[in-house]
Formats: sequence, structure tokens, C-alpha cells
Amino acid sequence: MTQGFDTTAIHAGTAPDPATGARQVPIYQTTSYVFKDTDHAARLFGLQEVGYIYSRLTNPTVGALQNRVAALEGGAGAVCCSSGHAAQLMALFPLMAPGRNIIASTRLYGGTVTQFSHTIRRFGWQAKFVDFDDLDALRGAIDGDTRAVFCESISNPGGYVTDIPAVADITKAAGVPLIVDNTLATPYLCRPIEMGATLVVHSLTKYMTGNGTVTGGAVVDSGTFDWSASGKFPSLSDPEPAYHGLRFHETFGPAAFTFHSIAIGLRDLGMTMNPQGAHYTLMGIETLGLRMARHVDNAQKVAEWLENDPRVTAVTYAGLASSPWNATARRLYPKGAGALFTFSVKGGYDAAVKLVGALKLFSHVANLGDARSLVIHSASTTHRQLTEDQQRAAGAAPDLLRLSIGIEDPADLIADLDQALATAVA
Ligand SMILES: *Cc1c(COP(=O)(O)O)cnc(C)c1O
Repeated sequence: MTQGFDTTAIHAGTAPDPATGARQVPIYQTTSYVFKDTDHAARLFGLQEVGYIYSRLTNPTVGALQNRVAALEGGAGAVCCSSGHAAQLMALFPLMAPGRNIIASTRLYGGTVTQFSHTIRRFGWQAKFVDFDDLDALRGAIDGDTRAVFCESISNPGGYVTDIPAVADITKAAGVPLIVDNTLATPYLCRPIEMGATLVVHSLTKYMTGNGTVTGGAVVDSGTFDWSASGKFPSLSDPEPAYHGLRFHETFGPAAFTFHSIAIGLRDLGMTMNPQGAHYTLMGIETLGLRMARHVDNAQKVAEWLENDPRVTAVTYAGLASSPWNATARRLYPKGAGALFTFSVKGGYDAAVKLVGALKLFSHVANLGDARSLVIHSASTTHRQLTEDQQRAAGAAPDLLRLSIGIEDPADLIADLDQALATAVA
């Protein structure tokens, strides 16, 4: 990224449309593209020439978004997918095989915990969960079958921050790729590749689009991992039987992972992003820098207000001086610790449920990273099936609420919390 962040967010990956001069990226709402002749078609299908065949693989609108996300993250390439969860599977797919495992942080988005602890087992993959603040435990968990290490830069639901450079030192020494979910930070607050990450995954559904209109995901490749060095990543280093013996790493170098993700991943798994969604996300990213600055500013104000309120027993925001993660946040996330955190209210489960019902500006939804402020009471929703002990262990205690702070006027958010606390904590 030679230009500034905001310039890159507006310009990267796009140019006036070659056919019409359209300044904004057109929505190429087409499934297929006419071949110039049969030779051209054969070259495209053989990957001897790069071009458009079919929109499950490539589409100009989605391609513009891929280039913009790659530029913002400082990656060699990116591939967009139908959701953040699809992006996680797309990131793991070229690396994994039956019997292989990933080491995942215990502090992850709940849906990711479910995906890793249950669903991927059906592919014969396994996840081992480790506290990434315990670097010795992380080092010790990596074994001969480990093919990736996975964490979130800023993690859901507590807004805790990960010391990515320290984690990357360990994965580098072990010769294993580090995958960082950068959804909550966005490249505005954190650029994991500069800190040593191999791959970055995103739920574009959240801050990147920024207004709760699109479900999408992305995998960004740093282009720096040597897929051929260890023999552990045959999908990228060895002849690919479903591509007449093509070796992706040898042929495409730093673009190998991205080419594989399109030519094999999207072709055969089909978790493709649609051009309309890509268009909305491109427009959202244009204001990412403006929005994130406001999100973190508001979050800091709301968290400080909550912490000083006697009706509140705890606030997890890493931007607070009282947080055990504050020093790491200030060192590695100098522009702010995100805009998602939890707080606990006096009066337990009953007060927490009453508070959610009394809030007027905050919407009770299972989403985050919207322009609107959002709240969820995990114990009565996403973590409802767990025992109280399990809820506490998962960071979803009965008295705890998760806030996603939007970009409204902060005084209005505080006033809403104030009146709802008055109703909930009598
Ligand atoms: C929402 C979210 C996901 C999943 O993304 P979807 O677009 O909902 O599939 C993954 N990781 C984090 C941190 C998230 O917040």
C-alpha cells in the first residue's frame, strides 16, 4: 500500500469501466462470458491464459473487490466467498487432509467454535483449542499433523486482542501457516500480514460492508509462505490431478494460493460471492476509514461510561486502562481496540434480559459491525443450550451483554443505556 489507507479504500482494484467509462464499478450481473474462439476457450480452461469463463470462478465486480481487499491487507491476492464461514473453509481447504489438525484460539466467534469443533470433523479434520495468551501451550500443541494455526486479531465477544507477532514467531519456527480472522479489526485497525500472518480471512458481512446488507467473506494470501519447503502442502506443491498435473506453487509463485482457491476451491466447492453483494461491499469499503475511526471513538466513550456506572459490574473493552489486554492493544492496535465488547450488569440474568428489552436505539440482533448499535444477550440466545458453567466458560455468563457500538452520536447511545439500566436495575 504505497498510498494512504483512505485513498486505497476508494481506488484500489478499480478503474473506469473499459467498455463504458463508468466511474463506479458496474455490477456485472452475468454468469458467463463469450469466448473469442475455441483456442481462447481452451487456453482459459487450461489456465494458460487468465480471463473470464463462468461467474462461479471469476466475475469483474467480485474481482474488483478481491483486488481492493488484497491491497488494504497488503496481500499478494484475495478471493471472495459467499460468507465469512465460507472464507474459513476456503482458507483451510488447500492446507488440510483427513487426519490433519488446526490449532485454534479459545477466544473465537461462537459460530467458528462450532464449525471447528463439530463440522470440520466430517472431513476428517480436527481442531485443538488453546489459550493464545499462553504461548508455551500454543507451541506445545503444534504437532506433525498441524497444518494451520487460527486466531482472531480482535476477538469476539470480549474484544480481546491477540499478540499476532508473538504468535507468528511460533508458527514460523514450526513451519505452519498462521491464519488471522481480521473481521473485528479490519485492515484499518490491524494489518496481520505485516505482523507475520500467512493468510487473513474476513467476514465482509460486518464492518467491511458496514451496514448490515451483505453476507460475504474473503481470504487474503500474503504470498510469502513457501508451500513446497516441507512436503506438508501437496495440494499446492504437487501435481494436481484435477488440473492435468499442474503444480500451483511452481507455476504461480506468490499467487499460488489465490489461483488454487479460484481454480479448485471455487470451482469445486462453489462458495462464490455474488456480484450485487460485491458491489455493496465495494461501496461500504469506500468509507471504512471514516467509519472505523468513529466506531472506536464511540466504543471508548461508551465503555468508559459503563465502567464508571455503579449498576455495571464489569466491562471487557481492551481500550480501557483496567483491561489485562490494554498494554497489547496500545502496542499493536494504536488506532483503537475495535468496537465490540461485553459488560455485566448487577442483578444477573433477570436484569440483563430486562435491559435488552428496555433499550431503544440498540437493536437486539445476532450481528455486529453495523452502522447501528447492536446488543445481544448470549445466555438467552446463542448460548441458550449450555449449562450456566458452560456459559461462563464461553464468555456468555447470564448477567453479560455484548455490544456492537455503531456510529451514531455517542451521547444518544449513552442516554439509551442509562435509561435501560434504570429500568433493569431497580
Ligand atoms: C460473523 C463472523 C464470522 C462469520 O461470518 P459470516 O459472514 O457470518 O459467515 C467469522 N468470524 C467473525 C469474527 C465474525 O464476526
